[in-house]
Amino acid sequence: MIPTDTPSISSGPTEQRQWERVRKSVEDGRSANLADYEQCVRNFSWDQARALLDGLPGGGLNIAHEALDRHVKAGRGDKLALRWIGRDDTLRDYSYAALAGEANRFANVLVRHGVGKGERVFSLLGRVPELYIAALGTLKNGSVFSPLFSAFGPEPIKARMTIGEAKVLVTTEAFYRRKIEPWRKELASLERVFLVDCSANLPPETIDLHAALAQASDVFETVWTGPEDMALLHFTSGTTGKPKGAVHVHEAVVAHNVTGRLALDFRPDDIFWCTADPGWVTGTSYGIVSPLTNGVTMVIDQAEFDAERWYRILRDQKVTVWYTAPTAIRMLMKAGRDLAKRFDLSKLRLMASVGEPLNPEAVVWGVEALGKPFHDNWWQTETGGIMISNYLAMDVKPGSMGRPLPGIVAGIVERGDGGEVREITRAMAMGELALRPGWPSMMRAYLNEEARYKKCFVDGWYLTGDLAMRDGDGYYWFVGRADDVIKSSGHLIGPFEVESTLMEHKAVAEAGVIGIPEPTAGEIVKAYVALNPGFAESEALRKELLGHARQRLGPAVAPKEIAFRQNLPKTRSGKIMRRLLKARELGLPEGDISTLESEER
Ligand code: AMP
Repeated sequence: MIPTDTPSISSGPTEQRQWERVRKSVEDGRSANLADYEQCVRNFSWDQARALLDGLPGGGLNIAHEALDRHVKAGRGDKLALRWIGRDDTLRDYSYAALAGEANRFANVLVRHGVGKGERVFSLLGRVPELYIAALGTLKNGSVFSPLFSAFGPEPIKARMTIGEAKVLVTTEAFYRRKIEPWRKELASLERVFLVDCSANLPPETIDLHAALAQASDVFETVWTGPEDMALLHFTSGTTGKPKGAVHVHEAVVAHNVTGRLALDFRPDDIFWCTADPGWVTGTSYGIVSPLTNGVTMVIDQAEFDAERWYRILRDQKVTVWYTAPTAIRMLMKAGRDLAKRFDLSKLRLMASVGEPLNPEAVVWGVEALGKPFHDNWWQTETGGIMISNYLAMDVKPGSMGRPLPGIVAGIVERGDGGEVREITRAMAMGELALRPGWPSMMRAYLNEEARYKKCFVDGWYLTGDLAMRDGDGYYWFVGRADDVIKSSGHLIGPFEVESTLMEHKAVAEAGVIGIPEPTAGEIVKAYVALNPGFAESEALRKELLGHARQRLGPAVAPKEIAFRQNLPKTRSGKIMRRLLKARELGLPEGDISTLESEER
């Protein structure tokens, strides 16, 4: 294991001054929803959190009901739910009532096309209003929503839709033609494809979504769902094997809602911007469900990152709570403090970050350039919601992920010789970050992968796969991953998926894929490749392989670098030792190589 970020608690005079400024921002937290951490932890119960929601008659619970209908019923239908900013700066506003109406239309379209409870509706869309309408309409219909990242290439899409047994896909004509049509016939479960922006010449066997919505009623009675009914399917990656479909149920909304209140400090008049794409879990839990259940106004930007544009949005939309990610923050830092200072961001009262290690310098930069520290928090696809956070009312320790949410019990654990898991209570001891299962947004399964799911739970702990430390004040510090998955620009990438695609190329005999440090993206994907007989290493072949991977996997997943090797280091059982590739790449000690094949030593 190679630590990707070493915690440091600064103590020099400059650092002390910076610390004071960070501390000062705590003043803003005096009236926070979570004003006294210890007291909130003591008094918290998940039953109370459940009671914040409406529920459906007979003990039912439905995410979309809590996100939309509850507000409309309570007379808040006119409140602005979603302001969409198009790439060309067009604005489109949806009140809670209007969004509910659109979601109802989508649910009626699903019914008309025979899509029922529990059936899977996938989306492959950029951040367009139809994505949010489809997500909420699917949940209203009791069907399961699975959003795919639009920068995926055909292979990751096909793998996920196959595992998830997609019945419906909502996408654009361009994505359809490029990424779906070539293999569509291979997925028998896929019955309906809706296109949100299609030309007059609809591709065969596709449906114009807007025409379908226009014919559908905007009245729909939300289908009764129980708390344990499946609602969302989010894919994540492991070290080996296919992507894993983390199953989330309607009860997750209890955690989405309350963690929004406690960690993001949502108040009714907030204007919230979550910059994450709904193709990843943050963009759904906190880019759709949590803000809407909390009745706030959310801003959605269709465009990709651009520092000046982002500051303009923060200023013009008067964003009060902003949830973003370390890669974006590092890009803002690169764009310079002077640019930030040109914008009046005085409405901004909370800046939070998630998804990858947030360097202490980024927290301090936030204070200096934007007048506030970034509040780091930690969670993962499997946990469904924020688990550890720096709260508005507490000291931010730059470099730390914060303290567990009320209702969450975290620990640092290690494995004993017999495989048993035990907690290490010593301050700053490194071990695996583990959580006591039982919160509402925890995944209920990896779809059809019982063994992989069961492996995550040992001796009453859920093992996160992250290495971390806890200090004497109960703050957690991220150290690195315990496995080989790669985090690049906040996106979790499974090396196996990349290796498999490289291996499909006729020149490739073996491939080993690792993440290597990169200052902005955190890590980038690098592949080591051994060639088949008859192929020789060349710049042209390197480019061809990069192109092959990019075309099939998409730019978010494909390797950025390829290196040729005669042989790759393997265990005696034939497994490529990525750990060793990484140690060699970084010039670090090779560690235990007793299982290495002899000719490789
Ligand atoms: P994902 O399931 O794609 O959301 O990725 C979850 C993983 O991202 C975690 O297991 C961590 O490895 C990493 N991660 C998430 N939040 C943080 C954070 N605040 N600091 C460091 N790593 C993080």
